[in-house]
Amino acid sequence: MTSSLLEVRGLAVTYGGVVEALRGIDLTVERGSVVALLGSNGAGKTTLLRALSGTLRLHRGKVESGSIHYQGTDITKRDTAAGVASGLVQVPEGRRIFTRLTVEENLRAGGLGARDKSGREQAQARVFEMFPVLAQRRGQRAGLLSGGEQQMLAIGRGLMAGPELLLLDEPSLGLAPRIIGQIGEVVREINNQGVSVLLVEQNATMALGVADTAFVLDVGKVSLSGPAAELAQTDAVQRLYLGHGAEAPAHADPLAKADPARPRKTLSRWTA
Ligand code: ATP
Repeated sequence: MTSSLLEVRGLAVTYGGVVEALRGIDLTVERGSVVALLGSNGAGKTTLLRALSGTLRLHRGKVESGSIHYQGTDITKRDTAAGVASGLVQVPEGRRIFTRLTVEENLRAGGLGARDKSGREQAQARVFEMFPVLAQRRGQRAGLLSGGEQQMLAIGRGLMAGPELLLLDEPSLGLAPRIIGQIGEVVREINNQGVSVLLVEQNATMALGVADTAFVLDVGKVSLSGPAAELAQTDAVQRLYLGHGAEAPAHADPLAKADPARPRKTLSRWTA
């Protein structure tokens, strides 16, 4: 039996029985770590998250072979509700907040079912501490928030469920470089509070800057994996994900977690 928080072994997934989206994935998330999952469009990142969160069936997807163990338990065939109850929580791509509901109502929706009242209140207080702008706008309709603030709300809603492992699906999507830097800091802060994170990203600079370990998916297979700082130095990752003269966000520091002597950045509060 393993002591890893999450172990995916030989996972193969198809859609409609024809599209082979994942073809034998091996991936591990150690307790207390941040793991980055990189890959271009269509590589299978979202499919892996759907398999982990038990939502494949909603998309006509099916696990053909392989296994997913979470906290030592086989969850390959479990549904979403069971996942949330055991601390495995997904923040979906595209934020998916309720735009007509207030900030506070959105957060409350994230805490439903998973906690008692006082637990929910404590969780909300922690979310407001991490994102003061959400506290300021608690009574405002979520649709009026900026894109970055909506992403923070989506993450905050995920935190309301008290995750042990937070699955973040492309949180930087469509956001400005400065805001992406703040997202990276938020991921670090969440991890500092003891939550393990699987961070799915196309923005390799941000993801490798905060991750301990990284996996690169390529057409349904893991093509590279290893310590994030080492992966950031490989030719393939430099060329495919970090190259082409792309301007790196100011916070980008792929070696940040490699050297324990380096001070870790603390979260500059989300006040934009
Ligand atoms: P992106 O960054 O564009 O979201 P991704 O790495 O998350 O890409 P997936 O969305 O997991 O990739 O897609 C992997 C493969 O599965 C692609 O070939 C995609 O077309 C296919 N696919 C995804 N969802 C479905 C679906 N519901 N039905 C059929 N095929 C699907």
